[in-house]
Amino acid sequence: MVNIHTVAVIGSGTMGAGIADVAASYGHQVLLYDIASDAISRAIDCIRLRLASRVTRGKLSADASAQILARLIPVTDIQALAAADLVIEAASERLEVKKALFKQLAEICPPQTLLTSNTSSISVTAIAADLPHPERVAGLHFFNPAPVMKLVEVVSGLATSSEAADVLCELAMNWGKQPVRCQSTPGFIVNRVARPFYSEAWRALEEQVAAPETIDAALREGGGFPMGPLELTDMIGQDVNFAVTCSVFNAFWQERRFLPSLVQQELVLAGRLGKKSGKGVYDWQSDRPDVSWLQTVSDSFSPMSAERKSDGVTELDEVLLVETQGETAQSLAVKHSRPVVVVDRIERDVAVIAAAASNPHSATQKAVFYLQQQGKRVVQIADYPGLLVWRTVAMIANEALDALQKGVASEKDIDTAMRLGVNYPNGPIAWGERLGWQRVLALLENLQRHYGEERYRPCSLLRQRALLESSYES
Ligand code: NAD
Repeated sequence: MVNIHTVAVIGSGTMGAGIADVAASYGHQVLLYDIASDAISRAIDCIRLRLASRVTRGKLSADASAQILARLIPVTDIQALAAADLVIEAASERLEVKKALFKQLAEICPPQTLLTSNTSSISVTAIAADLPHPERVAGLHFFNPAPVMKLVEVVSGLATSSEAADVLCELAMNWGKQPVRCQSTPGFIVNRVARPFYSEAWRALEEQVAAPETIDAALREGGGFPMGPLELTDMIGQDVNFAVTCSVFNAFWQERRFLPSLVQQELVLAGRLGKKSGKGVYDWQSDRPDVSWLQTVSDSFSPMSAERKSDGVTELDEVLLVETQGETAQSLAVKHSRPVVVVDRIERDVAVIAAAASNPHSATQKAVFYLQQQGKRVVQIADYPGLLVWRTVAMIANEALDALQKGVASEKDIDTAMRLGVNYPNGPIAWGERLGWQRVLALLENLQRHYGEERYRPCSLLRQRALLESSYES
């Protein structure tokens, strides 16, 4: 195990300042370097403020705060980084910038110095190419804000040694972080597996299925995600989120699953970047519109009989209330020759429904009344296959299995990464397992049939898991 005493951080912006704060707080001497010297002083000021706030809140002693600050050493000559045992580069997200820096580092630092990049999208293999001792080059991907977020993706390029990855994992754990190991593939774990969370919401908006606040409430209150996808993109910044989507889309040779949204592009082009510009999907200077929850309907719509017919299907007199399997309510109404209301996956107290256009009004009201009697708040959206929660979760679980099958990371690390990197309520593979792989598969097959698009293609491992599940049941 390399003994890591001195850590160098290159780039003293948002991430560099956060990472330097973490390393100094865990007792390392930290060399803080940036091409812009004012960026270094800004970073130290920012760390000083953060520490002062912790002292005020009684979370840190004034003495400890002074010691952390004393361990931060501003450096304006890159040659001084020769003293580092570990370098963490957090400069601009451009391959040529990173390659030039690593070339210099390889000349300045001894061969045992670990050279890492905090890149969120650039290939670690490409950064390490042409360098002497590429086995000590790896990705060390922190999440923003680095002092708060627990997850660190330890990314191995083609040449990274397992020893280097082991040391970085151990170090991350010593820093109170949860490391996950992954291979250098576009988006690593989190930025790849999270794509459907955003793209399915953009599609719903594009197809005018529901208002943004309804889409967000469905995922947040119905699906248990900490934030709705659209409000989250406003927080991240539409430009940043759109750039990540474009980068993953292009890195996968324009794979249709990752197709960027025209609606989001319009926001970026308009400068509506979200919270930071005051306006994005939402106007952050005014109150957000309320979700149009359906009001309690008269109990004259109470069904005479409610009978659970089979898994996910309840008969309310002549009306079928069906948990979505990716077919529209209208297609089911035609198939069964009776009124149909489809309902989204209910993880909490919110039920998102869609009704067949051919339903008499009273049929839909009956389903609403029934769900309200079960304590659910009900919101109706257009007749959209797979609705909002089920479709999003199925797509995320499919993406997670695809990453697993392609050796990006282990099942455990994929689930951990999604719980800690983006605070999903469940790891997507565990979630898919709980919902049932056969149902996830059926949902995606129905979506693929409906749209005739590659985007909803179930991955091969999903088919295998669904088969295995059915063989256990029989
Ligand atoms: P930032 O723009 O806030 O800071 C970048 C800093 O790097 C600037 O101070 C700049 O002066 C400096 N810099 C640029 N070129 C340099 C060079 N050649 N040598 C030394 N310093 C140089 O950027 P950021 O948001 O902190 O992102 C830094 C890295 O971390 C990027 O690779 C980014 O993809 C990654 N990252 C960012 C986030 C995030 O949420 N911001 C999260 C995870 C990873």
